[in-house]
Amino acid sequence: MPTEALAQALRALAESLRFYQAMGVTDLPLGRDYLPGPEDALHRQEETLQGCPRCKLSQGRTTIVFGMGNPRAELICIGEAPGADEDAQGKPFVGRAGQLLTKMLESVGLDRDRDCYIANIIKCRPPGNRNPEPDEIAACEPFLLAQLAAIRPKVILALGGFAAQTLLRTKEPIGKLRGRVHSFHAMVLIPTFHPAFLLRNPGPEYRRLAWEDLKLAKREYDRLRSQ
Ligand code: SF4
Repeated sequence: MPTEALAQALRALAESLRFYQAMGVTDLPLGRDYLPGPEDALHRQEETLQGCPRCKLSQGRTTIVFGMGNPRAELICIGEAPGADEDAQGKPFVGRAGQLLTKMLESVGLDRDRDCYIANIIKCRPPGNRNPEPDEIAACEPFLLAQLAAIRPKVILALGGFAAQTLLRTKEPIGKLRGRVHSFHAMVLIPTFHPAFLLRNPGPEYRRLAWEDLKLAKREYDRLRSQ
């Protein structure tokens, strides 16, 4: 096996083991396939996550919003946390913000279901849509990392300041983070405005900047796919 493929397989195995550890699993039976394909891996992760009590957001949620899209997508959109519509439907980025995200992706020739996977850093809705708290991020982030290990996308589109700052471990505002390509493990990360922010601030300047970010993400997507 080529060195890079072996390294990727070991990283995926490490993330899977961290996922099971985060779920409180202490024994893994031998003879089971711990490196399944992305579809099976995500399916198992979603099943295992059901009923998760690891942080206080479990008390107010209706559903766990795991993620949706193409398990083999080379671009993943990552937002902050589910809102009311997402909590009710169990799917990320539905409602008006979700419709805008679909249009933003289409503006650069990307089909949401075919070309992308969509998830949030936090899988349960914070009450009143408040920002997630550090203990909630610490509890939930391993699940996102396990999703990334299963999907292995090339490009992350980080939607909004919270997602970008959390992933990049920075306090820099979204206005400074966006418009640039950042490294994130073996992927590239492009921050842009959250669609809900664009709905609240519908000025043409913010939309133009978001479109520039989408074009940048598509350029990186095309470049990395052709390598
Ligand atoms: S937010 Fe994440 S860690 Fe907290 S209960 Fe929901 S799934 Fe579990």
